[in-house]
Amino acid sequence: TLRLPARAAQYCRIENEAQLHALPPHRQRFILGGGSNLVLLGDIDGLVLHVALTGKRLVAEDAGAWFVEAAAGENWHDFVLWTLAQGWPGLENLALIPGTVGAAPVQNIGAYGLEAGERIHQVSAIDLNSGDTRTFSKAECQFSYRNSLWKNEGWHLSGRFCITSVVFRLPKPWQPNCAYAELARELAAKDRATPSSQHIAEAVIALRQRKLPDPAILPNAGSFFENPRVDADVAERLATAFPFLPRYPQADGQIKLAAGWLIEQAGWKGRQLGPVGMYEKQALVLVNRGGACAQDLLDLMAAVREDVAQRFGVRLEPE
Ligand code: NAP
Repeated sequence: TLRLPARAAQYCRIENEAQLHALPPHRQRFILGGGSNLVLLGDIDGLVLHVALTGKRLVAEDAGAWFVEAAAGENWHDFVLWTLAQGWPGLENLALIPGTVGAAPVQNIGAYGLEAGERIHQVSAIDLNSGDTRTFSKAECQFSYRNSLWKNEGWHLSGRFCITSVVFRLPKPWQPNCAYAELARELAAKDRATPSSQHIAEAVIALRQRKLPDPAILPNAGSFFENPRVDADVAERLATAFPFLPRYPQADGQIKLAAGWLIEQAGWKGRQLGPVGMYEKQALVLVNRGGACAQDLLDLMAAVREDVAQRFGVRLEPE
C-alpha cells in the first residue's frame, strides 16, 4: 500500500492449505498478507506466498462466549463487520484496520483501547520447514504491545510458520469499550450515551476516515513509527521541558509517549522531503505522494528520527 517498486523472484497465491503442504523447500520465503503494514525496500529474491485463504464460521458457543474462526486471507475489516452483522460483537474497536485476519496476530493489531490479542483464542499455522500443522493458544502467542511470538521469533521475516486461521473468543455478555478519550468524544458528539457495538464501529470508522489517508488514494502503511516507551524519570524530565507531552503509564512502570505528537512538535506534520512526507492530519503516517523509491523513504525516516532525537532525546523505531 506504500506503492514502492519491488518485484518478487517467484510468487504463489495460496488459496488452499494443500498448496502450503506441497511447497518445495525454498531458501527464502516471504509471507504476504494484505501488504498494508510493510515496507518493501527492493526486490525479493525468493518465493512470495500471498495468503488468500478464505472462510469464516462460528465454531462454538457457550454461556461465556462466541468462538468465531476466520481464514488468514479474509479481509480484516470485512470480517469485523460480518461478526457484528451476525450479532457477535467484540471486535468493533478494531474496525477499518487495513490488512488480513492472518496478519492480525503477528503484530497484535490494536486501536482505540483494544488489541486483537485480547480477543484471540487460538492461531493455527503450518510449519513450512516440516509441513506440520500447529495450533498456538493465546498464551503461546506471547501477545504484547504490537508484538507477538511471530515477531519475537522472527518468523514474520523468515517465513517459517504460515498462519492459516485464527479463532476469536468474543465474550458474553458484551460490554462496550469506550474508555479511549477520542472515541468517547466521538460517541458523545453523536449523543450515544449507551452505544451499541454498531455505534462504536461507526464512530471508529468515522475517526479513522477523518484522520488516516485511504491507501487507495494516498499510498501509506498506517502508523510508521512505534510509540516509544521510556523510563518514568525520563518522562518526568521531558514533561518539565514540554508540559503538554502526552504520557501513558504502562503496567511495567514504563511511560508510553505518542510518536505522532513528538513528530508534530519536531515540525514534520504535513512536511515533505522529496516525494514522501508525514501526513498533514496525522504526523505518524508516512505518505508517498507519487513516484517514491526506497531511498526517498529511508531519507525521510532518518530525517524525522534525527529531529525527534535532537529535540527530545527519544529514539523512534519504525513499526
Ligand atoms: P491518538 O488518539 O491521536 O493518540 C495518540 C497516541 O496516544 C496513540 O498512539 C495511543 O496509543 C496513545 N493513547 C491515546 N489514548 C491513550 C490511552 N487512554 N491509553 C494509552 N495510550 C493512549 O491516536 P491515533 O494515531 O489517532 O490512532 C488511534 C488509534 O488507532 C490508536 O490506538 C492507534 O494505535 C491506532 N492506529 C494504529 C495504526 C497502525 O498502523 N498500527 C495506525 C493508525 C492508528 P495506542 O497506539 O496504544 O492506542
